Amino acid sequence: MTVERIIKKFNDNNPGVDSEILQLAYDFAEEAHRGQIRKSGEPYINHPLHVAYLLAEIKADLATVAAGILHDVPEDTSRTLDDLKNNFGVEIANLVRGITKLGKIKYRGLERYRENLKKMFLAMAVDIRVIFIKFCDRLHNMRTLDYLPEEKQQRIAKETLEIYAPIAGILGIWRLKWQLEDLCFKYLYPEDFNKLEYKYEVEKKAERNNFFNRIKKDLNPQLKEAEINNEIEVRFKHLYSIFQKMKTKDRTFDEINDVFALRVIVEDINDCYKVLGIIHTIWKPKPNRFKDYIAVPKPNGYRSLHTTVFGPEGKLVELQIRTREMHEESIYGLAAHWHYKAKRQENVQKQPAWIKEIIDIQKEFSDTNDFVHKIQLDVFHNRIFVLSPKGDAIELPDGATPIDYAYAIHTKVGNSAVRAIVNEKICRLDYELKNSDVVEIITEKNKIHPNKDWLKFAKTKKAKDAIKQYAKKSPFENIKKFIPGMGRK
Ligand code: MN
Repeated sequence: MTVERIIKKFNDNNPGVDSEILQLAYDFAEEAHRGQIRKSGEPYINHPLHVAYLLAEIKADLATVAAGILHDVPEDTSRTLDDLKNNFGVEIANLVRGITKLGKIKYRGLERYRENLKKMFLAMAVDIRVIFIKFCDRLHNMRTLDYLPEEKQQRIAKETLEIYAPIAGILGIWRLKWQLEDLCFKYLYPEDFNKLEYKYEVEKKAERNNFFNRIKKDLNPQLKEAEINNEIEVRFKHLYSIFQKMKTKDRTFDEINDVFALRVIVEDINDCYKVLGIIHTIWKPKPNRFKDYIAVPKPNGYRSLHTTVFGPEGKLVELQIRTREMHEESIYGLAAHWHYKAKRQENVQKQPAWIKEIIDIQKEFSDTNDFVHKIQLDVFHNRIFVLSPKGDAIELPDGATPIDYAYAIHTKVGNSAVRAIVNEKICRLDYELKNSDVVEIITEKNKIHPNKDWLKFAKTKKAKDAIKQYAKKSPFENIKKFIPGMGRK
C-alpha cells in the first residue's frame, strides 16, 4: 500500500478537494513509525496505510482518511496528540484522540472486554467517524490475523462477530459487515468455511455462471428495447450468511435459493419499476416475495426493489433493482452521506435514533456490565419494521409486539390499547410482529391504564418505561384485570 493509492482513491471520490494533507499525514506517520515492524514482518506504516485506504474506499471525508493514516501514532510512537494538534489541527487530532481513547482492546477477561465495549459505544455517540476508523482498523487486523497465535485469533474473531459486525449492519455498511463476517467465519469454523468455499468457488462456479448468463441472455434484449441503461451484477459472495441459513433453516447448500441473486442497477426510480415489469413478464414471480423498499425504505435507509422469480428451469432467483445512488448507499451506509454532505453538522443531524438511546442508557446505568447488557438488549437487538395502516414504517426490535408498536405511535395509544389488527386479522397484544406486518391498534376511549402484565412481553424501552411508570404511580393494584389481548373490562 502506498500513500499515492490513497490519494488517488480519495480524489476519485472527491474531485476538486485539496488532499495535500494526506501526503503530510503520511510523511509524519512514516517518520514516527520508522523502524517498527508488524507481526507479519512488514514495516508498521503499512497497517495505517491500509486502514486509510479502506476509509477512502467507503468515501470517508478528508479528516477521517488523514486520521486513519495517523491513528496509531500517539499510542505506538513518541509523538503525542499535542504534536498532531499542532501539525494537523483540532479536527484530525480529535478523531485520533477518539481512537486512542478506545485503546487497544487488551484481552484481560470479560470485565476488561465490556469496559472496551462501553468505550466504543460512547465514542460512537460523540463522533461516528471515530467508529468508521475503528472498523477499518479492525478489518485490516482481521485480514492479517494469520500472523497471530491461534488463541488470539479465536478471541479477536469472536469479538468481531459478536460486536463489530452487528454494529456495521446497524450503520448500514453491508460491505464491511460481510467482509468481517466471512473473515470471522474462516477462523471460527475453519472446516465449514473450507467446505463452503470449495463448493462455492470450485464446484458451483461454472453452474452459477451458466445460470447467470442465461438470465442475462433473456433479460438484456428486453432492457435494450425499452432503452434502459443498466448494469447487471452478480451478488457479492457472503459465505457466512449462507452458512447461517443452512444452520437455522436446516437446509443444504443447494436449497438456499438466494445464493442465486442478481442485481440490476439503473439510472432512475422510473426505470426501477420498468425493469420490474419486464422481469415479471419474462419470469413468473413467486408470491409474497416482492418487496418495495423504494416506497417504504428499511429503517436504516435501505432502498431497492426485491423480487424472487421462477427463472430458467424453474430455478428460483432473487433480483434486486435499484438506482446507482441507492446502490452506493447500500454499500457505504451512513458513510455514503459524507460524500454529498461534507459538513459535520449535517452528519450529526443524520445520526440514527439509537445514538440518542446510547446516551440515555449511559445516564441511567453507571455499572459497565449493566450498561453493555442493556445496550445489547435495547439498541443492538435485531430490528424489524412494521407498517401503520397509512404505510408509515415503524422501527421495532426483533420480537416486538403490538404493545411496542402502540407505544411507538403515542403513549396514549399504548395506554388505551385493547387489541390489535395485524394484516387485517384480530390479534392479541402479545402477538410477535414480523417484518412488514401492517398493524393497527384498537383503543378504548375510557381505558387510560396500561396493564402491568404487558411488561411480560413488551420489548422496547419506551413501552416498558411507560407501563412501569403507571404501575409506580397507580395507587391501585386492580389493573391486573386487563388480561393481555382480551380487551375485557
Ligand atoms: Mn491500528
